[in-house]
Amino acid sequence: MQISMQILFTAKLRERTEFDTLLRSYGVNQTQLPKGPPAQFAKEIEFLDYDIMLPNNSAIFDELPDKLNALGVKSITRSYSFSFEESDYEQSPLFNLLGTGNSPDAFLEDHGAEFELEIVCDHCKLHKKHLNSPLVIDTSGLAYRHMVFVDRQFLVISEQMAELLEEWKITGYDLKPVTHYGDQEERQPAYQLIPTRVLPALSKETPDLEVLGMRKCPVCNLRGNVKYPLHYNSYDLHQSIQDFNVTREYFVNGNTLTRLPLISSSFRKLVIEYGITPDIRSGEETGELDWRFEPVATV
Ligand SMILES: [Zn+2]
Repeated sequence: MQISMQILFTAKLRERTEFDTLLRSYGVNQTQLPKGPPAQFAKEIEFLDYDIMLPNNSAIFDELPDKLNALGVKSITRSYSFSFEESDYEQSPLFNLLGTGNSPDAFLEDHGAEFELEIVCDHCKLHKKHLNSPLVIDTSGLAYRHMVFVDRQFLVISEQMAELLEEWKITGYDLKPVTHYGDQEERQPAYQLIPTRVLPALSKETPDLEVLGMRKCPVCNLRGNVKYPLHYNSYDLHQSIQDFNVTREYFVNGNTLTRLPLISSSFRKLVIEYGITPDIRSGEETGELDWRFEPVATV
């Protein structure tokens, strides 16, 4: 597993030498040329997109934005990028499920479930959302999707998935029917899947990263930092994994604090073998029905 830092910015092509000199002073060779337009249009290209990948903890990551600002660059995006090896996918006992399709249909919104907000930080209004009623969602898409995320924190599965979970003797979950929102003729049976196993605490080796572009909350120390990629002590996991689990820790998701759903490697293998999703690895493009998993690291 490798953490890299990425800086993106756009510069005027005619000022390229200035930017390249600055980057070279940091040991970065930026050789990327504008992509796309054929040579005869080269005169019309005015801007150049820079996409710089750096090793984690590079001093340049903090210094470069100021220098770029001084050269007149207004918009600079900084982010972390995580890449996982073949061996991480083969050996990891648990996977973070990031999504079940590169499509808005895989991320639905609740349309009126009753819930209670537990304010965790008065200063930045970070809260936990406790459901007091079934989720209210448009279930029509569950006719061809096995699982969707609701409000980016709740999992909902189709009837067919519920049957498969039973057939495969999957552990660590409860099901709760959801309420259909919209045209009743489009209604599909669907269930909120609630993981029941809370994992032990993350290993102290889990990196504590600054969330770039997010204002830090001086009171709760939660907003503005993230512990990722997830690391667990093998010994702690040995006895406690089920097929569906959640992290003990809460993560910032908009203004909500949520636990991450972590799925066993055997369940991941089953959904791949059964053809529900192809085996998508880090850095690969995902299609509309492709599930995206990231392995946890064990130490
Ligand atoms: Zn706060």
